[in-house]
Amino acid sequence: MSNSPEMDTLRAADPELAELIALESERQESTIELIASENHASPAVMAAAGSVLTNKYAEGYPGRRYYGGCVHHDAIEQLARDRAKQLFGCTFANVQPHSGAQANMAVFMATMQPGDTFASLILKDGGHLSHGMKLNFSGTFFNPVHYALHYDKAHPEHERIDYDSVRAVCQKHKPKALLCGYSAYPRVIDFAKFREIADEVGALLIADIAHIAGLVAAGEHPSPFPHAHVVTTTTHKSLRGPRGGLIMTNDEDLNKAINRALFPGVQGGPLMHIIAAKGVAFGEALRPDFKLYQQQVVRNAQALAAALTGHGYRITSGGTDNHLMLVDLTGRDASLTGKDAEAWLERAGIITNKNGVPDDPRPPMTTSGLRLGSPATTTRGFKEGEMTRIAAWIDRVLSAGLKGEGELGEAADQVRAEVRELCARFPLPCAEARCHA
Ligand SMILES: *Cc1c(COP(=O)(O)O)cnc(C)c1O
Repeated sequence: MSNSPEMDTLRAADPELAELIALESERQESTIELIASENHASPAVMAAAGSVLTNKYAEGYPGRRYYGGCVHHDAIEQLARDRAKQLFGCTFANVQPHSGAQANMAVFMATMQPGDTFASLILKDGGHLSHGMKLNFSGTFFNPVHYALHYDKAHPEHERIDYDSVRAVCQKHKPKALLCGYSAYPRVIDFAKFREIADEVGALLIADIAHIAGLVAAGEHPSPFPHAHVVTTTTHKSLRGPRGGLIMTNDEDLNKAINRALFPGVQGGPLMHIIAAKGVAFGEALRPDFKLYQQQVVRNAQALAAALTGHGYRITSGGTDNHLMLVDLTGRDASLTGKDAEAWLERAGIITNKNGVPDDPRPPMTTSGLRLGSPATTTRGFKEGEMTRIAAWIDRVLSAGLKGEGELGEAADQVRAEVRELCARFPLPCAEARCHA
């Protein structure tokens, strides 16, 4: 694995670390990535992220910095902001959050006082840890109350958001903020309905579109604007940029409060190399082929869900509208756990994560489900046919695992070889551009 001048430089300077990166590059190249929150950033995004911009302190915002020498950094940050605003159709964008969780932290700090109440979906049913988990800042310094999904098999909306419960929780607790947007929810979010409920109780509506940002940008999921007062997201999931966060709003006063809360509230110097890479990714997302990519993301997720259903697995809520699905493994066999499935599939080169299903009786380190997503496989060029093959491989490995170690070992080896062969025919964007490894 040889190749780019940058990696040659690293190999000469630090062979030990270069070797580890090369191994990881080979792992990504030769395995099927089904983790719904992951993707493969483009060579252009990687180039910006690996640039000289990492050398600069640029605390503050364009035109108002605490350090000299920021002339190009002002232009870079302004470009990234402008592209974000164009992409999501909003008035203000803060491109500095180091991550999605830090974007949320800044928004909490800008819109609430410590101890204030906010409403969200609980983590175990698809929420995010920054939406009120006990150990997280959000659950430590604020008071989360949770709405629910429908948990009634006979209900047509089974395992979808229960908007009556959203309303009831808000009426009862009068939260300062109402959060929507999730980490493991396969269905369309009705932002207008959330806003209606938020208005009834005078709450701010915060939409965290970390998972679906790429779909939203491409018009393949309804936009949270103009309904949400504040929108937060990551930039590295379906949006396919560098790891990072982004905060947007149409409200000038909220924008001011958010900017102050992010810096100096929760962060110091911005990661200017990452902000430049965000700008590159937003530029890519503004191009017509990004819409085609996102349409294929949804078609691929639906093809995978349909094929798994055909193999006897239960997909929660009966399917997916977006890039991800939750597979209830107990539909196939009551003894299957997410923990075993994740480990068995990894031996076959299929990378997933265990995830609770709604109302899961098992604890989070075991779970009854797997969360599967299509953004990364779609980036490497897989279409419905490849997704259908993946479903068959998943069933082969899990069926073998149920029989015992001997059968599992054999099936995992066979599938691993077939996975390698398929991956070799669909090289990753960076392998083709030889920008790493
Ligand atoms: C992934 C995610 C985040 C946090 O992103 P990090 O960059 O990992 O901090 C926040 N909210 C939701 C809904 C997410 O899925």
